[in-house]
Amino acid sequence: MTEIIDGKAVAAAVKERVKQGVLELNEKGITVGLAVIIVGEDPASKVYVANKKKACEALGIISEEYALPESTTQEELLALIAELNRKKSINGILCQLPLPAHLDEKQVINAILPEKDVDAFHPQNVGRIMIGDFDFVPCTPAGIMEMLEASNIDVCGKTCVVIGRSNIVGKPMGMLLLHKNGTVTICHSKTRNLKEICLGADILVAAVGKPKFVTADMVKEGAVVIDVGIHRGENGLCGDVDFENVSKKTSFITPVPGGVGPMTIAMLMQNTLTAAKKQNALPE
Ligand code: NAP
Repeated sequence: MTEIIDGKAVAAAVKERVKQGVLELNEKGITVGLAVIIVGEDPASKVYVANKKKACEALGIISEEYALPESTTQEELLALIAELNRKKSINGILCQLPLPAHLDEKQVINAILPEKDVDAFHPQNVGRIMIGDFDFVPCTPAGIMEMLEASNIDVCGKTCVVIGRSNIVGKPMGMLLLHKNGTVTICHSKTRNLKEICLGADILVAAVGKPKFVTADMVKEGAVVIDVGIHRGENGLCGDVDFENVSKKTSFITPVPGGVGPMTIAMLMQNTLTAAKKQNALPE
């Protein structure tokens, strides 16, 4: 019998922890603030930003939203980031990606102060993840590690396979599993024998971006399967995993919706609290 990992419940526990942490800072006269920048009219980005604002409000985090027009120049965006970098009441800065094509994403990521980079996309934070000495981890992989821990799934010594090598999900996911002593393989579109590699996985993370890409014949009996994908189809949301058939073979599996998705915002809230504590020289 497979156990379905309830991302909503794990996220609620993380948020409760963050709420308490924010309250403790407030009692010391310290506020916690997150600035979210959105450029243009991308409907999915607007929904994500609205959800982040709602989560902040529920946990006592002050949220400032900067909705800039599509026509915003690189200079204008960098000037806003510089202002937020200086602003004492703002502990975390997030620039919603993707940016419109005329803006240089890399330059924008590099402009955010590493100590306020709650998405952990700045090269300094990426490097710190590599050496295992980090304050922030990108929210989606951080959320997956939290779910594994909440389900008492020990990564140590396990064969872990991550499908996908994006900077946001696949690569940091692989590093976090490695830091927990998993034996990690990261697969991508040029990987040969993907099915055979996946069949060896004790823990399989799918971050491919293709609906129901992972099928039951790719999964070992008793494996843990984590589904990062989000796809909106005719019958509602689905993930990168063929849940109906794969779940017949797994020991643990995350659903879509209600799996990895809710964790991402919860971990953003946690990163913002961590940033506030660091900036006020308080222990985590
Ligand atoms: P991405 O940047 O598009 O990366 C996809 C990865 O999958 C790439 O590394 C690509 O390989 C690999 N890939 C594509 N086709 C493949 C194939 N046939 N065989 C093996 N590997 C293949 O996507 P992402 O940003 O990592 O996101 C992945 C999925 O997670 C998306 O559905 C996204 O919407 C979702 N997501 C969800 C959350 C959440 O909160 N739940 C957060 C972030 C992302 P190459 O590098 O060779 O191209």
